[in-house]
Amino acid sequence: MYSDLIKFIRDWYQTKELVPLHEPRFREIDRNYVMDAIDSTFVSSIGEYVDRFEQKLAQYLGAAYAVATVNGTAALQTALRVAGVEQHNEVITQPLTFVATANAIVHNNAVPAFVDVNKATLGLCPDALEKFLDQNASKKDQGVFNKNTGRRIAAIIPMHTFGNPCRMEQIMELANYWNIAVVEDAAEALGSKISKTYCATFGSLGVLSFNGNKTITCGGGGAIITNDKRLAQKAKHLTTTAKVQHQWEFVHDEIGYNFRLPNLNAALACAQLEQVDGILNDKRKLARAYEKFFKESGWGHFVTEPEGCTSNYWLNAVITADKKQRDEFLKKTNESGIMTRPAWQLLPDLQIYKACQTDSLENARWLAKRIINLPSSARANV
Ligand SMILES: *Cc1c(COP(=O)(O)O)cnc(C)c1O
Repeated sequence: MYSDLIKFIRDWYQTKELVPLHEPRFREIDRNYVMDAIDSTFVSSIGEYVDRFEQKLAQYLGAAYAVATVNGTAALQTALRVAGVEQHNEVITQPLTFVATANAIVHNNAVPAFVDVNKATLGLCPDALEKFLDQNASKKDQGVFNKNTGRRIAAIIPMHTFGNPCRMEQIMELANYWNIAVVEDAAEALGSKISKTYCATFGSLGVLSFNGNKTITCGGGGAIITNDKRLAQKAKHLTTTAKVQHQWEFVHDEIGYNFRLPNLNAALACAQLEQVDGILNDKRKLARAYEKFFKESGWGHFVTEPEGCTSNYWLNAVITADKKQRDEFLKKTNESGIMTRPAWQLLPDLQIYKACQTDSLENARWLAKRIINLPSSARANV
């Protein structure tokens, strides 16, 4: 059965070489924009491409504001701070995510709490969130507090795993009821939608990544998305060393960060964003082909977009019968030069996050033993 899959993937990418999990796709336009930035000499902290990228990205997502940052992790860290996360607060997120989600919480000197994921979306489960809040949270004048830890629950971070949207309507309803801020980790979900609304625009802030392995890339980069002017201004201010505008004086009114996206990277980001539709289109074709392959072959459950949603299919995923089959799958494909990967280790299983509060994590544990990510790059020649 593995030989059929290996043949299918090699035929798709028309190659006998190593097939990576996700590689970027560059064309003439990418080179032209980068060369233009170099020729302009504005390669660093100021330049037209940064403003242009922020405008075009916000426009694409149907959001009011985008603030470009040096990477997605810095965007998350800043978004949490702007959302009101302070030291010793608690932030709820999911156990099945990339480590950066939780690191950004700790970078604000706050503490993560891990709530289970949903088996269909692979993202934060609204039912588990409701149960966690009912059992642990209590409303006070100064905010919502965790009765066990005594810490204020300052934010919730749903993460759209592999580009599959979380059930944001239900998550937002709960967050609004409890009056807790939502920061979407949409690092993997550029172009994913629930009905017609783009991921990263549901929460008070959303975050994207343009790292080399993401849907589009500018080498390294990220963005904070919001519809709130005050939050956007605060995010821009903090990520640009909190410098007060003046023709020559250097006045900084807060301890900010140097998290700005260099203009050189922004040039590549602009070029890549112009190609996003073509990239998403080709990734979608591949997802449909994988879906058909796994349906016909009768083994492995291919993960399709949740009902009512459009996934960007950043990383295609298949759920194997059990851990034994998963490990065999990984061995057979990687030995044949087809790069496949398991899901991340659950964050509360890492030594660094062992002490954090969790719920049962039942679905996350079940999924983590079975998920395989498949090669998912858009093809270079289409
Ligand atoms: C990629 C990623 C990030 C971080 O993005 P960087 O640009 O690499 O810092 C954050 N969260 C998730 C879920 C990611 O996949």
